[in-house]
Amino acid sequence: MIPLSRPVITEDEKRNVLKVLNSGMLASGDWVEEFEKKFSSYIGTKFGIATSSGTTALHTALLALDIGPGDIVITTPFSFIATANAILYCGAQPLFADINPATFNISPESIEEKIKSLKNPSRLKALLITHLFGLTCQMDQILKIVRKYKLKLIEDCAQATGAEFKGKKAGSFGHASVFSFYSTKNLISGEGGMVLTSSPILEKQCRKIINHGRSGRFIHDRLGYNYRFNNIAAAISLAQLKKIDQLNAIRVKNAHFLSQNLQDIGWLSLPFVPLGYKHVFHQYTLKLTPSSKEKRDHISALRNRFVKYLQENGISAAAIYPKPIHRQPFYYRNGYKNIHLPEAEKVSQQVVSIPVHPLLKEKDLKKTIRAIKNFVL
Ligand SMILES: *Cc1c(COP(=O)(O)O)cnc(C)c1O
Repeated sequence: MIPLSRPVITEDEKRNVLKVLNSGMLASGDWVEEFEKKFSSYIGTKFGIATSSGTTALHTALLALDIGPGDIVITTPFSFIATANAILYCGAQPLFADINPATFNISPESIEEKIKSLKNPSRLKALLITHLFGLTCQMDQILKIVRKYKLKLIEDCAQATGAEFKGKKAGSFGHASVFSFYSTKNLISGEGGMVLTSSPILEKQCRKIINHGRSGRFIHDRLGYNYRFNNIAAAISLAQLKKIDQLNAIRVKNAHFLSQNLQDIGWLSLPFVPLGYKHVFHQYTLKLTPSSKEKRDHISALRNRFVKYLQENGISAAAIYPKPIHRQPFYYRNGYKNIHLPEAEKVSQQVVSIPVHPLLKEKDLKKTIRAIKNFVL
């Protein structure tokens, strides 16, 4: 089976982990600090606060920005559920804007529509965007909205380590940005995450939040959590950081090979990379766009049959994501039943992600292409 993702672990990671084990200093320490410094400087922010996961990094960033009960945060319905859940953890309310179906990212036009429809605009505090699948959002329009409505901007970069918009890296635009180093992401540590910011005030708050509100020895001046990272995981991610550009370049090359060979298939729409964007292909995501109305009317059934067919042919494809967040049972039951976001709902029935990770061999890519070409629609 060709897996959908696989981490690249070499001698470098193993050597680093052994050094940590031999040192006896397994919890958060020098390795974590070094990773925070190197990663934040790689992305282009002043500070990095490493956390136990991308989810805890999201929670930490929102709390540091003072998001709390009664606040509204605009976000995307087409992301991993952690993005919206972190807003709920703070007691705030996610307000979903629709997506641009060509890029899968939140639509600036829809954000403005949602803002204009607010009955009490003073409750709106922040915009939490996700750079999905490795492609950044339309940052020029997003930044315009952020300035116009005086919002806090948080970037969820869990899938976009190394992605760029007009030469600037994802994670360098927001008041705070968040990364995940979960085992399937472009840069991994097993489990882990980071909040990046260039604000010393936010940095200080984040440090407290991840460490039980600690402000000094046995002094705790706010409510906090244990969201700390650790040296073993930092040792892995420091080794990964050295080769992230190389790993992303292989993803881009694999994506290019797939696109070159799939472009003539009429019923498929391929990943779109707008001019000026650097896509890092966390996922290579196709959309099923058949011309027959009959097939379009039953698109999710066709998509599911296509995913199953690929799996039966030894290729682990997956529908990512098969349901937008507002259609997840938990959200549906808790106030989102009458929310309609047609683009996100439609796209979630069309999408199929296929393997693009750096450990694929040319024969794996060719096998995938052959299987797709032989699919009987
Ligand atoms: C993976 C992911 C997260 C959560 O990260 P974890 O490290 O798994 O907690 C959040 N947002 C997006 C978009 C993700 O892909």
